[in-house]
Amino acid sequence: MSWLNLGAIVDATAAEGPGVRTAVWVQGCLKRCSSCCNPDFLKIKPANVIEVEQLKKRVEANKKNFGIQGITLLGGEPVLQANGLSELAQFAQSIGLSVMLFTGYELEELDESRFAGIAKLLNHVDVVVDGEFELKHVEQNRNWVGSMNQKFHYLTNRYDRSIESSLGTVTNEWRINAHGQVSANGLPFIVKV
Ligand code: SF4
Repeated sequence: MSWLNLGAIVDATAAEGPGVRTAVWVQGCLKRCSSCCNPDFLKIKPANVIEVEQLKKRVEANKKNFGIQGITLLGGEPVLQANGLSELAQFAQSIGLSVMLFTGYELEELDESRFAGIAKLLNHVDVVVDGEFELKHVEQNRNWVGSMNQKFHYLTNRYDRSIESSLGTVTNEWRINAHGQVSANGLPFIVKV
């Protein structure tokens, strides 16, 4: 039985990759990018610990209920939980969904000796966006990336560079739940209201 330690899940979002997707933020990151967009997910501590099997069922239900096109893995740092995520990614692709991965490491650094399970995870990822977030070089043009140094890598032919500049892409979503609590996801800008 495999487990994942998550910071958050959004079942259906249009702001975290092409189409409508389930976004999964893992808890814990060893990087310390300046103005990290998700400081709550940095600490390595138990947060929302969930069985991978349970998460698979949730993703499958999201495909049926929301017509999601894929899943997006973010953090925190997903490659620190590559083993559990590889099972989820494999399942997602097996039911026709695409898999997008955001990592603060560069693709060349993703070595099995450093990140157990990374080879299997990358075998089941369609597109990787890599590199640390650099506040001094905020991206103004491409979709979904926070800074200009970050690169898209297409590991399968499911997507190509056209997704980076497609018009009409949603950049931020804001939600208000039944208790009046506000949450946001999308581009990693700090928005003051
Ligand atoms: S890799 Fe992501 S979560 Fe980690 S410090 Fe950088 S922006 Fe924050």
